[in-house]
Amino acid sequence: MSTKQRKAGCGLELPPFTNEPIFPGCDDPTVREGFGAAIAQVREQLGRTYPLFIDGKDVLTEQTIDSVNPADPDEVVGRACQATTREVEEALSAAQKAFESWRDTSPSERAEYLVRAARIARERIYYYSAWQLLEEGKQWAQAYNDLAEGIDFLEYYAREMIRLGQPQDMGSYAGEVNEYFYQPKGVAVVIAPWNFPFAISCGMCAAAIVTGNCVVFKPSNQSPVVGHHLVEIFQEVGLPAGVFNYVPGRGSEIGDYLVDSPKTSLVAFTGSMEVGLRIIERAGRTHPGQTQVKKVVCEMGGKNAIIIDDEIDDMDKAIGDVLYSAFGYQGQKCSACSRLIVLDSIYDTFVPRLVEAARKLKIGPAEDPENYMGPLIDQAAQAKALEYIDLARQEGKILYCSEVPEKGFYVPLTVVEGITPENRLAQEEVFGPVLAVMRVRDFEQALAWANSTKFALTGGVFSRNAKHIEAARREFRVGNLYFNRSCVGAMVQIQPFGGFKMSGVGTKAGGPDYLLHFMDPRSVTTQP
Ligand code: NAP
Repeated sequence: MSTKQRKAGCGLELPPFTNEPIFPGCDDPTVREGFGAAIAQVREQLGRTYPLFIDGKDVLTEQTIDSVNPADPDEVVGRACQATTREVEEALSAAQKAFESWRDTSPSERAEYLVRAARIARERIYYYSAWQLLEEGKQWAQAYNDLAEGIDFLEYYAREMIRLGQPQDMGSYAGEVNEYFYQPKGVAVVIAPWNFPFAISCGMCAAAIVTGNCVVFKPSNQSPVVGHHLVEIFQEVGLPAGVFNYVPGRGSEIGDYLVDSPKTSLVAFTGSMEVGLRIIERAGRTHPGQTQVKKVVCEMGGKNAIIIDDEIDDMDKAIGDVLYSAFGYQGQKCSACSRLIVLDSIYDTFVPRLVEAARKLKIGPAEDPENYMGPLIDQAAQAKALEYIDLARQEGKILYCSEVPEKGFYVPLTVVEGITPENRLAQEEVFGPVLAVMRVRDFEQALAWANSTKFALTGGVFSRNAKHIEAARREFRVGNLYFNRSCVGAMVQIQPFGGFKMSGVGTKAGGPDYLLHFMDPRSVTTQP
């Protein structure tokens, strides 16, 4: 251990972590002014070309892709350069080289970079959020809260590293002195989804960087412009060359190369179950030149349920929270509610009122804060969700299927009833605005049906029956369970996020164990 590492945590004094305030509301005059100005500013910058960023330098490539506004696909938000395996190799080499000195930079110094990055994101919260309105079709609140979560990751992991960077005294035996401390793993490949394009990318990259690893970041090809915001921020805080590299490109073309490389020590992935399982399998193979077993931090999909018990306090609040969980950001959240399990005795009161409330939700471009729901991310997502709506007609009975604007990747807001666990709609992740409603005879059956998928990410229960609440706490087996509120919107530190079974490997982003997955522990014994 170097002297620098021994001094971990001594150099930087930070106040205790507190969560960044979430979206204040569309009616707030500061918000209106902030978004108004930011959208205008972003519109002036549309269509720019975004280079790769390797070893501290911009790299232009011949091949680019157009990242478009999902509400108006004729509008090109930006052109993203595309890495081939050649640029990926250069980025991996740059990260490997930078690791030699970054690994010995003190944890407090590494943490300081994150705190400075948080400051920049906070100052530009409207500007960066406005890009998400146009590139990802996120509503004002959804985009703002994505930024707020990213800021939380930066601030929280900075503090966590200062805590973990202190070597622990493990006690003495026969006069020996025993220490326990952590070291980084090496080159961390970060592969991110598009649906939390800043927060999730920022969280995985920040965790890898602050623990002393060097990052090769591949954003989703649906969100490369927002992905590039991390380049701007990390460049501005002065991270040494090679510590953070940005290589957008098609997952199907460069994904395997990133994962298979003998230079890769760790893969931090968030995305679908199909890609996640592929990465876990491939990372388990050893390639010539490889000197380390690869670690995979892997967060995947969900098929989340909310249970409506027959004793609930406030039906209107429950309806609002279910709609928000199911249709907020068009249902494109891993945590989204896609199954609503309602007890028979309350079903005929609750479900019609839910449908009535759903009919009132406005659909249109996310830029307009009057709209509750916007377009899906791209044409493929639209086609997939429309197929599920066709399936809904076969497997159940459609209670509501909304109108949608003609232009853009819109999909009707859909509520279907009569779904049971054998149906595909009860088992497969749609990742769109389709809510499957299931009628159950009692709370025991509700819990059994809630647990009847291969996923275990989020869940919700509306009830004021103490016995049922206790039973759900014990038996509703998901990573994040919420009582009497929506099942989305986990907050860093207070609700560490992530699932198990086929939803993830249990690493819990924004929680006290997360950084440990990015490091190897060491024990040192000295006999005086
Ligand atoms: P995805 O299709 O699995 O893509 C995720 C990332 O993997 C993208 O950057 C993608 O690149 C890349 N990729 C594709 N094929 C690859 C391969 N063979 N090797 C390596 N990387 C590859 O998922 P998505 O559509 O972006 O995101 C939606 C999914 O993420 C949903 O299933 C959702 O539930 C899940 N999710 C989970 C969490 C969580 O915390 N549990 C959070 C958010 C989202 P391209 O874009 O170039 O294809």
